Amino acid sequence: MADYYAILGVTREATQEEIKKRFRQLARETHPDANPDDPSAEARFREIAEAYEVLSDPERRARYDRGEVFQTGDLFSQFGGLDDILQQFFGGGFGGGFDFGFGRASSGPRRGTDVVTSIDLTLEEAAFGASKELVFTAEATCDRCGGSRAEPGSSVVTCPTCAGRGQVQVARNTLLGRVMTVTHCTTCGGSGQVVQTPCSECRGVGKVDKQRAVTVEVPGGVEDGTRLRLSGRGGAGDRSAPPGDLYVELHVAADDRFQRDGDDLHHRVTIGIAEAALGTSVEVPLLDGGTHRIDLEPGTQPETIVRVAKKGVPHLRRRGRGDLFVHVGVEVPTDLDGEQEKLLRSFAEMRGERPADRRRGLFRR
Ligand SMILES: [Zn+2]
Ligand SMILES: [Zn+2]
Repeated sequence: MADYYAILGVTREATQEEIKKRFRQLARETHPDANPDDPSAEARFREIAEAYEVLSDPERRARYDRGEVFQTGDLFSQFGGLDDILQQFFGGGFGGGFDFGFGRASSGPRRGTDVVTSIDLTLEEAAFGASKELVFTAEATCDRCGGSRAEPGSSVVTCPTCAGRGQVQVARNTLLGRVMTVTHCTTCGGSGQVVQTPCSECRGVGKVDKQRAVTVEVPGGVEDGTRLRLSGRGGAGDRSAPPGDLYVELHVAADDRFQRDGDDLHHRVTIGIAEAALGTSVEVPLLDGGTHRIDLEPGTQPETIVRVAKKGVPHLRRRGRGDLFVHVGVEVPTDLDGEQEKLLRSFAEMRGERPADRRRGLFRR
């Protein structure tokens, strides 16, 4: 945690008036606009502004003195940004041209927009990977004007305001003296050129919505909700600005044979009571295709779990794969016919079991 008192160079007993006076002095010396050749000026200035932001408020200062930690980002977003502090302090002397990185919109050439879309996959495709054709709509550079925003044949002139540089220097008189700042030219939006007749296709935007097809290579081992990022495949950027990214969200359909848990798969089989008692073998499906035979011992109990190693989902971007767990259910018959019931009753007698007499039971109720 930074020592705000040390940063401002004041004692812990300093009055509000002293803190204010000291900040004004330090801000004048370190403001990045006043130190255009010093790349560390911005960091130093932020530090000072942060210290002032906390210590200038008696309540926040008391909390700081008690050891509370302030998140710089929260601080500035909560109190309206660094520009606002300076606005309050210097009455609008600063601002414009200098980007403090707190999200102020830039008026320069803009990066293309990110596009979010989705693909439906089967469990097999998610497990082993797939090559999927994806059609989506995104902004593309206008064919008619090639992104110049001007109707072909019409003239594009060099911006008279900035002489084609896209930027203008503005001199401001501030409490800190005369300060030069560089800002994007508002006449041409930073492009350096002014369009006389806007392109009829894109209405002077330079971009149009277009359908695009892309082949997405889905790696094996992805899950429902996994997002793939295809860098640079989103919307076209302004001229000289990079395109946006394409995000593909993967939706994996439920499978009626397998329940997925991470990279493990679970499958359920049901056997009869005689099979459980005497042992049997069952065929279980495999995600890879085909089946796998499992031998169940005589005396298999309900909810026995048999593990088939390495037949689950391959791990994403590393070797190996999960396991397949086969859950064995034992079904007690509810549809005995007369012959079967007779056999089961004599079996029960031999085992010393005492099953209810169905007819007597009915009379009693
Ligand atoms: Zn156009
Ligand atoms: Zn201009």
